[in-house]
Amino acid sequence: MSESGRAQVRAWRSYAVLGTVAIAALFAVAVSRSIAMPLAVAGAILVAAFAVYFGTSRRNVIGNVAAPESARETKGLSGAALDILEVIDDPLLVLDDSGRIVFANRASKTLVGPDAGGKRISAVLRTPELLETVERILAGGGPENVAFSVLVPVQHHYEAYVACTGGRLILMRIRDVSAIRRAEELRADFVANASHELRTPLAAITGFIDTLRGHARDDPSARERFLEIMSTEAGRMRRLIDDLLSLTRIELNEHNPPAGEVDVVAVVRDAADALKPLADSDRIRLDIAASPALPIVGDRDEVTQVFQNLMHNAIKYGRPGGEVRVRFGRTHAPSRRDSGMQAFVSIEDEGEGIPREAIPRLTERFYRVDVKRSRERGGTGLGLAIVKHILNRHRGRLQIESVPGQGSIFTVFLPAAPDGSN
Ligand code: ADP
Repeated sequence: MSESGRAQVRAWRSYAVLGTVAIAALFAVAVSRSIAMPLAVAGAILVAAFAVYFGTSRRNVIGNVAAPESARETKGLSGAALDILEVIDDPLLVLDDSGRIVFANRASKTLVGPDAGGKRISAVLRTPELLETVERILAGGGPENVAFSVLVPVQHHYEAYVACTGGRLILMRIRDVSAIRRAEELRADFVANASHELRTPLAAITGFIDTLRGHARDDPSARERFLEIMSTEAGRMRRLIDDLLSLTRIELNEHNPPAGEVDVVAVVRDAADALKPLADSDRIRLDIAASPALPIVGDRDEVTQVFQNLMHNAIKYGRPGGEVRVRFGRTHAPSRRDSGMQAFVSIEDEGEGIPREAIPRLTERFYRVDVKRSRERGGTGLGLAIVKHILNRHRGRLQIESVPGQGSIFTVFLPAAPDGSN
């Protein structure tokens, strides 16, 4: 009989007792001549009514909480054990010896759905690796770890530990390892990309060394030209190594908030002075707006690196003969988490702009819209990744707007220093 059926029988039993007591009381009143007897009977009815009432309430409690325990116990698991499994935040499944799910904890619901109980494991997780493991364990095999992936709705990677409990049940503990996998893939991609970026200039340099040793040995003009190219390639390698080291250092420090105070207006002016020769060679005018000091809490070298990278990009990808405009301001922080004021600096160029779909990827390491153009302009593909990590450390953010064919605006927001926020 089901648990709700059993509860119903108990309820009817209580009503029957109450009914019998009431009929007995009426009978007693009818046959007795003194008032004492009906009073005693009324008292008895009252006591019976209380007993039934509390019996029913207790039954409700049992119906909600304890009753499933007896049902659970038929599956060989105590309520306490299930309560423990329920709160574990990794998906956990318990299967019986026919491969049916007898228990699925809360954390497993996104993986196996809300109604997995009673279904065969093969009906909810159709991954051959996992099912074969379950079969081996059902056949008496020892505990196993198995890796598997679920492709829909989004690809997720899991690792499961599957073991027989000794009581003919199978415990399956599953861990979502997608984030770890993704980090491993990113690291592997990063090493591959970095090696590739270094290998290209290195190949050029070794090639020219061979040429200079061979047929260009006695050709002074070729020698000069090749040495010039070798120097450019060596410069590219040096910039790449500098950017790689910078990125690693910033990443290592990312969870240490900066402590100093920096005026972003002064930092931008210094960066503009340093970049003036590059701007001049492209006939680009740097227009830095007049502004009072804008103090922020930050690391001067890192904040300088942010504005140098962004202004350098505006020059590199700007319109030769055009203008790069830098504007400053203060605004309220957009979220409640960052209460107070923010300083912002926007850097606007008149270059070719950025396709809309490329904007979210610009801060990825080695991502370039046009690899050839970036290389020609001495880019490493790491500048905006460095900017992103520095801003993360400073609890700032970068906003990128662009109209292809017209130009781009890169705006940096940084929390204003406490003194400047009132
Ligand atoms: P790079 O060293 O290639 O400049 P960054 O990380 O600084 O690397 O920038 C990544 C890519 O973003 C660049 O290769 C370029 O395609 C694009 N980009 C960055 N700034 C601008 C800009 N101001 N205008 C157009 N494209 C830009």
